[in-house]
Amino acid sequence: MPNDNHGDQSGDNSLNVGVGDFRGANVNISHNERPTFTPEQLHIERHPAFGGRSLDSKSVSVFGYITGLGTMIGLYFTLFRPPFGEQSSWSTFFMFSFIVAGLAVALSAALRRRKFEHFFGSRHYLEISNTGRLRVNRLTAQCPWCGSLMHLRRVGPKEGPRDDQFICVRNPAQHTVQLDPTVLPDIED
Ligand SMILES: [Zn+2]
Repeated sequence: MPNDNHGDQSGDNSLNVGVGDFRGANVNISHNERPTFTPEQLHIERHPAFGGRSLDSKSVSVFGYITGLGTMIGLYFTLFRPPFGEQSSWSTFFMFSFIVAGLAVALSAALRRRKFEHFFGSRHYLEISNTGRLRVNRLTAQCPWCGSLMHLRRVGPKEGPRDDQFICVRNPAQHTVQLDPTVLPDIED
């Protein structure tokens, strides 16, 4: 098998756009004009959760549709023909599973588009591999300023735009790098 180097330059051109224009211009680094780094410079590593287990993303949305349909039927009978005395706890249960079903459908749709989504909890991310399998990963990097460990976290106001940022364990206030998830290498199954 030929072992040609096809020279994938995608990491370079996607991250360094515009950097050269600011050289020598003494630009103050604001939060909107942070220095950019390539994934190689940051030494980004994926740490699979759940022992690297993966899930077919299609089955997640199928699960969502079936659960949602079952919930609607259950909710109908609970609301209009209460078979038991305790009607309220059953409708609470059905409402809850309907929300779960809706989340599963919405999540798998968003994931197939973005391939990268924050997972519940602070440090875990859902990613989709090149064959459409769902995985849960933690991501770490090496701080380009001090060489310490960085964790990828979702930060920002509760009700506002939130960013995925690598945050340095040694200087979490100043050493942060915003991640553009599209520069991450594809996950191969
Ligand atoms: Zn640092």
